[in-house]
Amino acid sequence: MAYVFAAPEQASIEVNGRPERFPVRRIFCVGRNYAAHAREMGQDPEREPPFFFTKPADALVPNHSTIPYPTRTQNLHPEIELVVAIGKGGSNIAPTQALDHVFGYAVGNDLTRRDLQFEARDKGRPWDTSKAFDRSAVITAITPATARSPVFKGRIWLKVNGELRQQADIADLIWSVPEIIAELSTLFELAPGDLIYTGTPAGVGAIQHGDRLEGGVDGLDNLITTIG
Ligand code: MN
Repeated sequence: MAYVFAAPEQASIEVNGRPERFPVRRIFCVGRNYAAHAREMGQDPEREPPFFFTKPADALVPNHSTIPYPTRTQNLHPEIELVVAIGKGGSNIAPTQALDHVFGYAVGNDLTRRDLQFEARDKGRPWDTSKAFDRSAVITAITPATARSPVFKGRIWLKVNGELRQQADIADLIWSVPEIIAELSTLFELAPGDLIYTGTPAGVGAIQHGDRLEGGVDGLDNLITTIG
């Protein structure tokens, strides 16, 4: 195939214990999937179920990176999240079959320009400038799925400059991992290479130039990022 200029590089993520990398197709994210976080965002989780939005695959940033503070925001928030890496595609996947479609799990940070998100929300506009900006999808290496993967439980936490900001348990997810896969597969035909950021717990807040973020989920790599 000849192109008029060089085609973009395939986005990919390191896989623990394997020399091959995970090729990334799309990034889906779940919004308001922990009740306490939905409430801190001013929403009632009893009345409104979680929902999906997306980021481009080229927004990915690997572990141990320094990220420049993004343009056009004065209220940058980290969101620590469990990430599901899809290895087998499908539509209308039953929750009971959903885990057969998982390749592995990672820890992600859904970086958010909170000021632009609130402006979009208040004006009924799309979220792209607040969620899908360059270098907004930070992620660790993927740990292949095993019986001990943090699917239904496991501590999730984020520290900023050593101070604990977010802490919850995967068991607190409103939509569990199988439910997320089942629900998403009724909206999109899932494909190998898709990533799903599963939502963040309560405790989100602003970060500044020079901050060091460290977060994790039990059983997976810790995600370490510096804001430049
Ligand atoms: Mn999020």
